[in-house]
Amino acid sequence: MSERTYDYLIVGSGLFGATFAYFAKKAGKRCLVIDKRPHLGGNVYCDNIEGINVHTYGAHIFHTSNKEVWDFVNGIVPFNRYTNCPVANYKGKLFNLPFNMNTFHQMWRVTTPDEARAKIEEQRHSVMNSLGGREPQNLEEQALSLVGRDIYEALIKGYTEKQWGRSCVDLPAFIIKRLPLRFVFDNNYFNDLYQGIPIGGYNKLVSGLLEGVETRVGCDFFTNRGELTNLAEKIVFTGQIDEFFDFRLGHLDFRTVSFEQKVIGSANWQGNAVVNYTDREVPYTRVIEHKHFEMFGQAVYECPKTVVSWEYSKEWKPGMEPYYPVNDAKNNALFQQYKELASKEENVIFGGRLAEYKYYDMAPVIERVMAIKEMYL
Ligand code: FAD
Ligand code: UDP
Repeated sequence: MSERTYDYLIVGSGLFGATFAYFAKKAGKRCLVIDKRPHLGGNVYCDNIEGINVHTYGAHIFHTSNKEVWDFVNGIVPFNRYTNCPVANYKGKLFNLPFNMNTFHQMWRVTTPDEARAKIEEQRHSVMNSLGGREPQNLEEQALSLVGRDIYEALIKGYTEKQWGRSCVDLPAFIIKRLPLRFVFDNNYFNDLYQGIPIGGYNKLVSGLLEGVETRVGCDFFTNRGELTNLAEKIVFTGQIDEFFDFRLGHLDFRTVSFEQKVIGSANWQGNAVVNYTDREVPYTRVIEHKHFEMFGQAVYECPKTVVSWEYSKEWKPGMEPYYPVNDAKNNALFQQYKELASKEENVIFGGRLAEYKYYDMAPVIERVMAIKEMYL
């Protein structure tokens, strides 16, 4: 048998593929990274418009408490001090997120943590009674038992139903566990020790990870599967796991997002990077003003224009970008069957959001590569 050109063919240049390629190259392995998109970087890719890095596939804020991951990414490109403090707009009234003393004051005019706790307890009382000691079974029960009805109705129900296109009673409870609840005046969305945006944008992180690695864009694995497979000893596959197996057991569901983007002749249009629209009647979920991720203070005004994106959440159909796995019981069961097939593919490593069908943030993707690399490299 002729020797293969590469040790690894890496399908997908998102953070999973790019981080794997970085470590593989360091270990002396020959890698080829391919991506079907016309650029590298997967969902963290940015377009530069009017001097502003625009998060093409949705706003991305890096956050982690893992010092090893934080030091690793900062070793590739230093990160700035961006701290995510999204604001919610409900029928024209503004609330701070995540749910904290500012939110409770805006909602109920309470001014102390004791008053806020008492108000939430009062709201939770009837929910806890109806649960009768059992664990919340769905997102609505989970949310009501965490924060009570007022916050659920104004800030959670409409947003969640728009984002997931399903009733909150049909969604798993874990989605809402991501939302922290705090009795201090702290609008920092994340509890993590570290967060920020790469200085100069995410493309710098990706090009740093892929420095010296051979790459091909506009190259779909499935268009040339046989030939590409023969190039390498092993494959790292970060595309859709169901597509890898020709959808033979059926399609896994995803949610997708479509973006309406405008360049606006104002230096500061909404005063924040992220504004969530939590009312069911407003068709979009979030409005992103990209410059606030990387421009602070006077720098906001030194750039006379701004780029704004309206995000609309939709059910995914073949041909659209698969963004969020729908981890309900039906899809999780189907994924387990695909995982079973994957375990028989000795020369293929399945990793990342699409191949593991997992609601992964960026840092855990890097963590995962760090965890498995010893096994393969
Ligand atoms: P991806 O980035 O999706 O990369 C997969 C790559 O594989 C893509 O480039 C794709 O084109 C390529 N590919 C697929 N199939 C093929 C094929 N057949 N042939 C060739 N190439 C193929 N995380 C955070 O930590 N903070 C955030 O604020 C945050 N915001 C997000 C917002 C949105 C809208 C979304 C969708 C995700 C967000 N994430 C966030 C999660 C983050 O995007 C992921 O954790 C991370 O990008 C996953 O990397 P990946 O390599 O697994 O996948
Ligand atoms: N969420 C909500 N109201 C908000 C923001 C979030 O109800 O204003 C809920 C919603 O169910 C969402 C979940 O919290 O799916 C997680 O939101 P987050 O912004 O953390 O996740 P992302 O959409 O960035 O993956």
